Amino acid sequence: MKTVLITGASRGIGRATALEFAKNGWQVAVNYNKSETAAKELCDEIAGLGGCAKVYQADVSDCDAVCRMINQVAAEFGDIDVLVNNAGIALTQGLFTDFADSDARRIFDTNVFGMMNCTRAIVPHFVNKKSGKIINLSSVWGIAGGSCEVIYSASKAAVIGFTKALAKELAPSGICVNCVAPGFIDTDMNAHLSKADIEAFCEDVPLGRIGKAQEVAESICFLASEDASYITGQVLSVDGGLV
Ligand code: NAD
Repeated sequence: MKTVLITGASRGIGRATALEFAKNGWQVAVNYNKSETAAKELCDEIAGLGGCAKVYQADVSDCDAVCRMINQVAAEFGDIDVLVNNAGIALTQGLFTDFADSDARRIFDTNVFGMMNCTRAIVPHFVNKKSGKIINLSSVWGIAGGSCEVIYSASKAAVIGFTKALAKELAPSGICVNCVAPGFIDTDMNAHLSKADIEAFCEDVPLGRIGKAQEVAESICFLASEDASYITGQVLSVDGGLV
C-alpha cells in the first residue's frame, strides 16, 4: 500500500485530499499544527471507510519538527511515496504598504519555507529509492497576482518557481514535482468573505461558481497517480477557467 503525507490536512483542501487518497487505497499521514481534535476525527473517518491514517503534529515552518515528523512517518508506515505541501495561510487582505513586515514573514515562513522544510526532509528518502512525487499548493494569485493579496501572491508565485526548478533538479532521480493552482475554493480560508463578495467574484469566473475542496483533491490525486507518470514541473490550474 502506498503512503501519502499531507501537510495542514485537518481541514479544507488538505482534509478533502486525505479522504480522496484514502478512498483510492492509500495510507495517509495527516499532518496538523494546532487542530489535533479535527485531525483525529479525520483519521477516525478514514478508518470508518476501511482505510488507514495517523496524525502527526508539526508546524511546517519549524525545520526540526518537520524532520522528526518525516522520519516518524517513514518509520511507522515503512515508506513515503508522495508529499503534498498543502499547509498555507493568507492572513488579512490589504494594501501592500499597510502590511506589517512580521505578517509578511509569517506568510513566507508557512507558504514557502514550510514547503521547503518538508521537501528538504523528504528528498533524501525519494533519491535513495529513485522515486517519489511532490505536489505543492500554489494559487491562481501566484500566476495572475491579486490586488490586496500581494504578499500571499508573491509566496504562491515562489511555490511555482520552486516547483519548476526542483522538477528539473530531481527528474534524473525519477522524482516528479508539480503544483496545483486552485482558484476560489469554498474553505475556511475564505470564510470571512460575504455572500455579496463571493457573488461578485463568481462573475469573473467563466464557470460561474466557486470551486469545491473535493475538486482540488481529485486533481492532486491525479498528479500522484500513475496516470501522471510523465508529468513534472507543471502547474495544474483548478480555477473554473479564471486564469
Ligand atoms: P485552510 O485555511 O482551510 O487550511 C489550511 C490548513 O493549513 C489548515 O489546516 C491549517 O491549520 C494548516 N496550517 C497553516 N499553517 C500551518 C503550519 N505552520 N503548519 C502546519 N499546518 C498549517 O485553507 P485551504 O483553503 O484548505 O488551503 C489549502 C492550501 O490551498 C493552502 O496552501 C492555500 O494557500 C491553497 N489555496 C487555497 C485556495 C482557496 O480558495 N481556499 C485558493 C488557492 C490556494
